[in-house]
Amino acid sequence: MIDRKRLGRRMTELARIGGDGTAVSRLGLSADEQRARDLVGGWLSAKGAIVRRDAAANVFARFGDEGETILVGSHLDSVPEGGRFDGALGVLCAVEALESLVEAKTKLRRPVEVVAWADEEGARFGVGLFGSTAAFGRLGRGVGDRRDRDGVSIADALRALGERGDPAAARRDPTELAAYLELHIEQGPRLDAAGLPLGVVSDIVGIYHARVTIRGRADHAGATVMTARADALAAASEIVLAVERIARGRSDSVGTVGEIRVRPGAKNVVPGECVFSLDLRAARDHDGLVREVLASVTSIASARAVEASVDELARVPVTALDPRIRDVLKRATRSVGVDAPELVSGAGHDAQNPALSGVPTGMIFVRSTGGSHTPREFASVDDAALGAQALANAIKELAS
Ligand SMILES: [Zn+2]
Repeated sequence: MIDRKRLGRRMTELARIGGDGTAVSRLGLSADEQRARDLVGGWLSAKGAIVRRDAAANVFARFGDEGETILVGSHLDSVPEGGRFDGALGVLCAVEALESLVEAKTKLRRPVEVVAWADEEGARFGVGLFGSTAAFGRLGRGVGDRRDRDGVSIADALRALGERGDPAAARRDPTELAAYLELHIEQGPRLDAAGLPLGVVSDIVGIYHARVTIRGRADHAGATVMTARADALAAASEIVLAVERIARGRSDSVGTVGEIRVRPGAKNVVPGECVFSLDLRAARDHDGLVREVLASVTSIASARAVEASVDELARVPVTALDPRIRDVLKRATRSVGVDAPELVSGAGHDAQNPALSGVPTGMIFVRSTGGSHTPREFASVDDAALGAQALANAIKELAS
């Protein structure tokens, strides 16, 4: 049985690392993220797990010997001033599920590993799902050279943690895995609106991340007549509105420009360069959405005689989760008294990487309120305990 008190205590304990009140700033590949890994690894090694960290700073805690493994976990990093539950709750519930099975002396035919993925958010280096992408051999070339705002590269950050700075070396053979399970807060309002604590994920939306650079011409804001300008920010503004219009016009699609920088950035200078982020997601025809937005970037840039270049940072297709694992999770949630609905995830998750690598993959959502990626994000200990128990039931079914 799940120890609800222990789970609640650990939720508080983990949230203190990088925490300030209900806010958590525990960036990927930081010293705080490592402290969180040490804490979690310590709990599980005390229960007899073999704990190891890979070249991308993912940590695995293994129970059992050889054979196809059940992998279960989530991530330990957060966005800056994020909440206490995104990622962390999935690791905590995986730990609790495993501990409860060990304490009940459950006979497991297959080995089970708890994983805490590194740098899922990509808040620091712009590479989301970093750790799981590395572990499934899906990193693009040169990712280790990506730098944060202080000029520290991913390779540098890994070396500072004691690794060699080669995240691609984290690759493991996906055929060694019998299944991957992840519990995560919903980060949306559907479970709360339905009055249900748990859901089962059917699909994860396709996600496209890019950095767009618009090059115009910096010039004197007083002396340059309007017809002689190549204003990079005005062009970028038109693109921002086009992203909104295109996403609104398509079903199950969202598009966001959440970050923008203007150079040289002075009130009396026509903007010469503008760099902004692009986040495009869709549950269907994701490629069509990306194509339409990129076509509008090109046409707006050419109409305004500025130069546009698009640096694709990540592109993950729509991911359908495994129907058999979905059934296992349905049974597992039913056994804790919840008739869990099937939900599409609008957020990206580490689960995409095993799923796209052919590992049978499933996800449980736990009801959350107050939004996500904010200190208001909330999930109750009661809901978390139900989720952990469902996870334990699913592991038991898959591993015995
Ligand atoms: Zn997350």
